[in-house]
Amino acid sequence: MRLSALYMPTLKEAPADAEVISHKLLVRAGMIRKLTSGIYTYLPLGRRSLDKIAQIIRDEMNAAGAQEIVMPMVQPGDLWKESGRWEAYGPELMRINDRHGRDYCLGPTHEEVVTDLVRGEVRSYRQLPLNLYQVQTKFRDEIRPRFGLMRGREFIMKDAYSFDKDMPGADASYASMYEAYNRAFTRLGLRFRAVQADSGAIGGSFSHEFMVLALTGEDTIVTCTRCEYAANLEKAEVRYAGEICEKGECPPLEEVSTPGTHTVAAVANFLGVHEEQILKTLLYDADGEAVAVLLRGDRELNEIKLKNLIGATSLELASPEQVTKWTGAAVGFAGPVGLLGVERIYADEEVLRSTNWVAGANKDDAHVRHLDIDRDVKLTGSADLRTVTLTDPCPACGGPIEMPRGIEVGHVFKLGTKYSEAMGATFLDEGGKEQLMIMGCYGIGVSRILAAAIEQNNDEFGIVFPPSIAPYEVALLTLGAKDEAVVAKSEELYQLLSAKGVEVLLDDRNERPGVKFKDADLVGFPIQLVVGGKALARGVVEAKDRRTGEKTELAVDNFEQAFD
Ligand code: ATP
Ligand code: MG
Ligand code: MG
Ligand code: MG
Repeated sequence: MRLSALYMPTLKEAPADAEVISHKLLVRAGMIRKLTSGIYTYLPLGRRSLDKIAQIIRDEMNAAGAQEIVMPMVQPGDLWKESGRWEAYGPELMRINDRHGRDYCLGPTHEEVVTDLVRGEVRSYRQLPLNLYQVQTKFRDEIRPRFGLMRGREFIMKDAYSFDKDMPGADASYASMYEAYNRAFTRLGLRFRAVQADSGAIGGSFSHEFMVLALTGEDTIVTCTRCEYAANLEKAEVRYAGEICEKGECPPLEEVSTPGTHTVAAVANFLGVHEEQILKTLLYDADGEAVAVLLRGDRELNEIKLKNLIGATSLELASPEQVTKWTGAAVGFAGPVGLLGVERIYADEEVLRSTNWVAGANKDDAHVRHLDIDRDVKLTGSADLRTVTLTDPCPACGGPIEMPRGIEVGHVFKLGTKYSEAMGATFLDEGGKEQLMIMGCYGIGVSRILAAAIEQNNDEFGIVFPPSIAPYEVALLTLGAKDEAVVAKSEELYQLLSAKGVEVLLDDRNERPGVKFKDADLVGFPIQLVVGGKALARGVVEAKDRRTGEKTELAVDNFEQAFD
C-alpha cells in the first residue's frame, strides 16, 4: 500500500473526550473515528489490525475444533422471553420494535440464538460435542461508554458456544477453550492472566476471565505472590479492614460493631435491592451509622438505582483530592462491584471515570473513618489502591497478595443447563433417554483487544504494536520525494518486499522527513526502513526497530536476505 493513497488521517492532538492512552492514540493514528457515543468507525489501518486479531483468534478456535458461523444481530424478543432474560437483562439490552410492533433486540450476546439453532436439530449423542463460534458486532447500551474501544456500545466480539452430552465432556470443552485462549492471547503479544471469576448472576458453575494487566483496567485482580492463586476481586471476596481519614488527623480508631439498625436486611430495604446484592455493609461513621454499602451485581445499574433513590439533584461533586482522601481506602474494596453511598454520592466526574468506582459518604459526616473488620488487614497511606497492604489473606495459601488492575479481554464460562433447560435443548443418550445438553460460552473482546494491546504497548511517540497485530509490518519511508535515485530505490524495495509477502506501507508522500518519522512512530509499525540520499550513496538503507529504537544499516545489494 502507498501512503499517498491511504486514508490515514493522523492528528497532532487527541480529542477532548479521550482519557486513556489507547483512545488517544487510536484516534491520533487515524485508526478509528467516533460516530457517536460508544460507536466507532474503523479506518483502513484500524480494520487491518482488527482483522489480524480476529484471524489469530479464528486460528485457535478452529484448531480447538470449533466451527465458525455468523448469527444475526437482530434477535426476536420471544427467544429472550423464553430464556427469561427479556426481564432479567436490564437496560443494556437495546430493545426495538418492527412495524408490526413485535419485540426485537440488538444482540449483546447469543446464547438464545445459538440454543435455538441447535435444539431440535441435534437429536442424538452422536452429534455431540459441538462448538459453534462467530466473530460479530454486538450491541450493549452501556451506561457509561468510555475509553474508546475499551467500553463501546457497539463492539466486536468472538463468541463461542459449546454443547456436550455430559459433565466430563463439558469440562473437556471448557478446558480446550481455556487452552485456546491462552494460545491466542500469547500470539496477540499481550501480557495477561487468567483469573477465577464469579459466575454469579448468569447462573454458571465455573468461570475464568482473561485479564490484560494495565493500570487503566476497570477490574481489580487479586493475585498471590507465593502461589498460583488469581481471581477477580469480586470472586476473591478478600475483606479488608483499615482506616481512612479525611484530613489525616483523626483521633485513634475505636472498634465499631455493626449496629442492629443497619443489618444487611435493613440496608437492602432502604436501597430497594435484594439482600443477596449486598456484599458487605462496610463503612460506618463515628456514630456507627452505615454510610456506604458494597453492592453485588451490575455497578452501573446499582448506581442508577441509587441516584433515583436519592434524587439526581442531590448528587454533589467534590474535588478529586477530597474524594481520594476520604474514600481512598474504599477504592480498594470497590473495584468491579462499586461502592455506593447510602445518602449521597460525592465524586468528581473525572475520578469516577478513571477509577471505576463510586465513592460514598454521608454529607454531614464525610469523616468516614471505620471499616468493617473481617480480617486483620491494614491500609497504609491514605489514597491509593496500590498503597493497600494486606497482612493476611491469599485465600489459597495465606501468602501476601497483590492487586493489579486488569482489562477483561476474554471470559470462559460453564453454563451448565441454564439455557438448554429453559429452551428445551435435549438429545437422546446412548440408552435412548432424553437428556439436557450441557453448555459453555466463551467470549473474547476483539475490538477491546486493540485498545488493551495499545495500553500495554506505547511510548511518548505513539503506539508500539506487537508485530502480530500491527496494521503493516514495515513502513518504508522515502526521504526526498524529488531525489530520483531515492524514489527509484524505494519503489524497487517496495516491490521486492511486497513480492516476498512482507506487508509494507510505502510512505511516498511529498512530505518532510520529520512528518514521515512522526507518523511512522505514531502508528507504531514494528520496522521502519528509511531510504535517504546520503545513505543510499553509501549503498545502504537504515532499519529502525520501533520498540527498541535500535538502528541498523542494510546493504541494498543483499537487502533481500534481511527479509528471508
Ligand atoms: P465487562 O465486565 O467489561 O462489562 P462483560 O463481563 O460484560 O465485560 P462478557 O459478557 O463476558 O463481557 O463478554 C465477553 C467479552 O466481550 C468481554 O470479556 C470483553 O472483552 C468484551 N466486551 C464486553 N463488553 C464490552 C464493551 N462494552 N466494549 C468492548 N468490549 C466488550
Ligand atoms: Mg459488561
Ligand atoms: Mg465482566
Ligand atoms: Mg465477562
